[in-house]
Amino acid sequence: MPTKPNTLIDAHGRQVDYIRLSITDRCDFRCTYCMGEDVSFLPKDEVLSLEECARIVKAFVSLGVSKVRITGGEPLVRKNANWLFEEIGQLAGVRELVTTTNGSQLEHHAQALKASGVKRINISLDSLNAERFKNITRVGDLDKVLRGITAAKQAGFENIKLNTVLMRGINDDETLDLVSFAINHAVDISFIEEMPIGVVDHHRESSFISNIETLATLQKHYPLVSSTLSTGGPARYWQVPDTNTKIGFISPHSHNFCEACNRVRITCKGELYLCLGQDDKIELMPILRAHPNDDEPLRQAIIESMKIKPKGHDFDLKRAKPAVVRFMSHTGG
Ligand code: SAM
Ligand code: SF4
Repeated sequence: MPTKPNTLIDAHGRQVDYIRLSITDRCDFRCTYCMGEDVSFLPKDEVLSLEECARIVKAFVSLGVSKVRITGGEPLVRKNANWLFEEIGQLAGVRELVTTTNGSQLEHHAQALKASGVKRINISLDSLNAERFKNITRVGDLDKVLRGITAAKQAGFENIKLNTVLMRGINDDETLDLVSFAINHAVDISFIEEMPIGVVDHHRESSFISNIETLATLQKHYPLVSSTLSTGGPARYWQVPDTNTKIGFISPHSHNFCEACNRVRITCKGELYLCLGQDDKIELMPILRAHPNDDEPLRQAIIESMKIKPKGHDFDLKRAKPAVVRFMSHTGG
């Protein structure tokens, strides 16, 4: 396959070198901020096969993408997901293969993920209180997730990051406890501002907490030192002195990170979304299925898509309707 590094430059001069691929819309949790309780999932034939996922990743990598995040839904509920991790882990152009998981199945997969070349794992954790954890996830078992975190450490992952969505009146009283947990386990933690994606059953405007407020809360307890670390994502990091923990803030509202956007997202249906907060997309599945043995049309479509990558998102909590109606579990976080 010909290699054309750095071919993916959008109309605003930004280079795309990072893809997030959702390999399933299914999930064993039903987090209140992410999906409805009675969500219906896609029929199998409308979801990319793992082979199609691999073709897409290979096409992007041949165009200069070097970082790949496998997400979902819950990626580890996809049968044979490990085959895909292994395929991607072997690609010469992939500098970083990473994944985001809710941790529920991690105790069974951590070793295999490590062996396939996954460099970093993000594990979502919104509460350390089992009952509250169940309320937020609607069904989740906190103990399983904690066992998953332990398994990831035992498998030798050095770069583990917890992802927390803080919501006022729901889990914001755990900000310090979650950071202490991260410090005690020598892992990083990022606070993600809740985004108005999909329709949820709590009131986002009143539950929203700005990361500016969260940072101020933490600075009262820790002499945080601003870190220059960049993981190629939108998080800004602060080091907790004398620990192995950095605290990240992903702040789509209080800090618009679009000017440095380097990524695109592919849903499990093969929709290539050029921006998390906009609807601009192209459909890759028909191209894949029309050309089962030729990836050139796929590559050309990806190159063309750069022309429609929007300048930025348009999140506004006060708007009556969500910015985009699809769910994070569909687009891939
Ligand atoms: N199931 C996996 C998990 O939960 O880590 C991966 C997919 S999930 C969609 C990826 C990330 O998106 C999670 O950290 C989750 O907390 C976050 N997320 C989901 N809906 C969100 C929303 N409306 N606003 C902000 N973050 C959200
Ligand atoms: Fe599932 Fe992750 Fe969405 Fe929670 S945030 S419902 S774990 S996809």
